[in-house]
Amino acid sequence: MKKFLCGVDLGGTKISTGIVDENGNIIKSIKIPTMAEKGPDVVIERIEESIYQVLKDTGLEMSNLKGIGIGSPGPLNAKKGIVISPPNLPHWSNVPIVEILSKRLGIEVRLENDANAAAIGEHLFGSGRGVDNFVYITVSTGIGGGVIIEGKLYSGENSNAAEIGHHTINFDGPRCNCGNYGCFEAYASGTAIARFAREGIEKGIKTKIKELAGEGEVKAEHVFEAAKLGDEFAKELVEKEAFYLGVGIANIMAFYNPRKIAIGGGVSAQWDMLYEKMMETVRKKALKPNAEVCEVVKAQLGENIGVLGAAALLL
Ligand SMILES: [Zn+2]
Repeated sequence: MKKFLCGVDLGGTKISTGIVDENGNIIKSIKIPTMAEKGPDVVIERIEESIYQVLKDTGLEMSNLKGIGIGSPGPLNAKKGIVISPPNLPHWSNVPIVEILSKRLGIEVRLENDANAAAIGEHLFGSGRGVDNFVYITVSTGIGGGVIIEGKLYSGENSNAAEIGHHTINFDGPRCNCGNYGCFEAYASGTAIARFAREGIEKGIKTKIKELAGEGEVKAEHVFEAAKLGDEFAKELVEKEAFYLGVGIANIMAFYNPRKIAIGGGVSAQWDMLYEKMMETVRKKALKPNAEVCEVVKAQLGENIGVLGAAALLL
């Protein structure tokens, strides 16, 4: 009997669980609320329920699975199978999730941080197929990444390699979520775009961004929308975003010398608005031999990357 993979994308607000075949086709996937506020016992029970649900939906049994892969927010220790204390999973403290689930379900369970899992997914099933030296970057509310070196995930000494969002691009820059100043994430994430927009509005700059946000909070998507409508300030912000992305990408080329860098996450949906300026910056800032061999592309797996990446941990 053909073996299937089960991928669980554990997030702070939702758990996405799917059955995937070995070619990266999703047979069925579901999303349920994480209920993170209820703590790890409840969340782990919900993961179990979601696995039984997709098995039921597909008419498969646990014995049809090769195993279960879990992509979780970090910090975590993948080798030990322990989730340490992710900010968006309150009350978690060194939870041995792999041991708990493999005992209860009687099947192999693997754990990796969500960005690394996504990198493996994109490497095996998406734009990184056949690319031995490959970097995946996700740009959304934060910036994360995963690095494949010579065909294997490079996870570092304690699963914290490729914290791409937290390399400093300006030591005098704005404060980052990590407590440091001027990280790549503090300049180029969706959250950063929105912050730059709010700062401009507070200074009295006239912009459509404010109208588009209405009574709600200004978000990165309002900036892109306003730029599409020709708003000058929004266009400036988009250009800045592309520039900062280019700076980070040039650094990443220097760190890892990849053949391909794929960019995913919410901000990558605006690829056409960002690509030209981003690459112009890369060409200016990257070391020539590194830039010459590296292609920068939009990630292919889109919103399925969480489930596919988690499933790919079993391959
Ligand atoms: Zn940081």
